[in-house]
Amino acid sequence: MPTYPYRCLNCGKRFEVFIPYDEYGKRTVTCAYCSSENVQRRIVRVRVARSEESRLENLTDPSVLESMEDDPRAMGKMMRQLSNELGEDMGPEFNEVIDRLESGQHPEEIEKELPDLGGGGDDLGDDL
Ligand SMILES: [Zn+2]
Repeated sequence: MPTYPYRCLNCGKRFEVFIPYDEYGKRTVTCAYCSSENVQRRIVRVRVARSEESRLENLTDPSVLESMEDDPRAMGKMMRQLSNELGEDMGPEFNEVIDRLESGQHPEEIEKELPDLGGGGDDLGDDL
């Protein structure tokens, strides 16, 4: 039986649901933790995620980021390139960060204003 990864938009937890093919789309999926129906299917592409991870690691090397810290626009450009290269929609937060960087906002400020950031790295393929 296929397993579908979901994320609860209510409590933020991730969980998986077994749904038979013929029931998929008909069945109401609820959060395994809080029973909320406010859940979102996560798109998981394992093969992409693997190569992505190593590339992201290279690019998120602390020394690289440090050298870019005083140049938010360069960092934003790098992140946009990365996103384009991967051909993936990195999500609204990621795009938000890029927009802010490209407008010259300091990364630390962005982190403060967007406290939900940082959980993205383990979002793909970690529970497969
Ligand atoms: Zn929940």
